[in-house]
Amino acid sequence: MTIATPRIAIIGAGPGGLMLASILHRNKTPCTIFERDSSAVARAQGGTLDIHEYSGQQALDAAGLMDGFRSVMRLGGDAMKIITKDGTVLLESSGEGEAPEASEQNGEAVSKFVKGRPEIDRPALKDLLIASLPADTIHWGSKVTSTVPVPDSKQWRIELNDGFHPAPFDLVVGADGAWSHTRALLTDQQPFYSGVTALDVWVHHVDEAAPDVSAFVGLGNCFLWSKDRALLFQRNGQGLEGDARCYACVKTNTATPPSAQALLGEDDEGAEVDWTDARMRETFVERYFGDWFPEVKRILLSMTETPVLRPLYMLPVGLTWESRPGVTLVGDAAHLMTPFAGVGVNVALMDALELAQGIVDCVKAGSTDGDGLATMLQKYEKGMFARSSEEAGRTASAMHLQFLEDGAERVMKFMSEGLQPEEFALE
Ligand SMILES: Cc1cc2nc3c(=O)[nH]c(=O)nc-3n(C[C@H](O)[C@H](O)[C@H](O)COP(=O)(O)OP(=O)(O)OC[C@H]3O[C@@H](n4cnc5c(N)ncnc54)[C@H](O)[C@@H]3O)c2cc1C
Repeated sequence: MTIATPRIAIIGAGPGGLMLASILHRNKTPCTIFERDSSAVARAQGGTLDIHEYSGQQALDAAGLMDGFRSVMRLGGDAMKIITKDGTVLLESSGEGEAPEASEQNGEAVSKFVKGRPEIDRPALKDLLIASLPADTIHWGSKVTSTVPVPDSKQWRIELNDGFHPAPFDLVVGADGAWSHTRALLTDQQPFYSGVTALDVWVHHVDEAAPDVSAFVGLGNCFLWSKDRALLFQRNGQGLEGDARCYACVKTNTATPPSAQALLGEDDEGAEVDWTDARMRETFVERYFGDWFPEVKRILLSMTETPVLRPLYMLPVGLTWESRPGVTLVGDAAHLMTPFAGVGVNVALMDALELAQGIVDCVKAGSTDGDGLATMLQKYEKGMFARSSEEAGRTASAMHLQFLEDGAERVMKFMSEGLQPEEFALE
């Protein structure tokens, strides 16, 4: 008996879309990914991601990629330091599950928290997923400009900017990230400003270029939090190729992101702000981190490469929509959250796992007519809404507590007592 396989389009080759394609491929279910970037290296992919044992790693396992993951994950990348704004080191863990050296209380619980979250560089994760797919799965340089229902049918037609006209699809999955176009087929909701803006600065080849920055940041993450400010340092890449990055975060408590001029306290809204200008960065650091300990200010100011101002956006916690046959979302498109709990990619990978399982079950059961897929999507979305709203709520609470006066101490308490951020009273 021939089992009908639905025609599946995935919009976006981020971690969510790639993982969905990879698990489907492993289960002999073909799909096509349309990605607007011209290649995997078309733009800087930067960023390190911790892949959690009970979410991201489960998806990797379902794709048969755990061995590959272990071979490219960053050794020691789960090292973590937590420091207060006056320079007191609350935690210094060398990672890989080793007991933290400077944990003041309950070192075992903190060690357990840090363990089980190995770090991988985003390009390495994407390369691993891309390599698991047949070469013709991804159409690079194909930006989806619209997705419209085919009249008198249950299928969808995708319009692309590259002149390619694919035949209609039975299922379209929007894995197209924060500013998803696919989302508009399901809800009018757009992302809104979270209230936090980060100046993102780097030192490339940090071991050679700035050994003091390298020593300060360590092999993993180094976090400092206090009232309305945070410095989040992280290592990206390995060995002599490794870079250091810092997100210098300011909670602006505004409904819309401030202009760069407003952030610097300047009246002249028309003037261009050039973050490569050392004077601009000095003004920024003095204005927002002036009373922080001298060493951290010096380190931050010596990180001069590729500065970019990033206002952070989010979707409402608990966003849902009425299910619509033949179209759904995974990842940031469905539940964009700020990076303050470090879970976004893990939720995206779990979405991919659960949706892939639903599709494969439909194919195996021979129920890939429109109704079978529609019922499967309702079930997937119900589970995804519950799971992602919990993580989004946790992320919102984590952001709240990290930006309190004693944010660093609060995070230590959270890790050492195994509490969930929402268990901290919101003040
Ligand atoms: C500063 C920062 C730090 C973060 N740190 C962490 C962390 O430590 N841990 C963690 O778990 N998460 C972290 N995240 C979140 C994580 O990056 C995201 O949750 C994750 O990338 C979501 O994957 P995705 O596949 O849903 O979307 P994306 O990674 O955004 O991929 C979407 C893809 O869709 C493509 N696309 C968009 N529109 C179209 C179109 N019209 N046609 C074709 N292609 C299109 C894009 O080019 C892109 O390749 C962080 C996020 C930020 C902003």
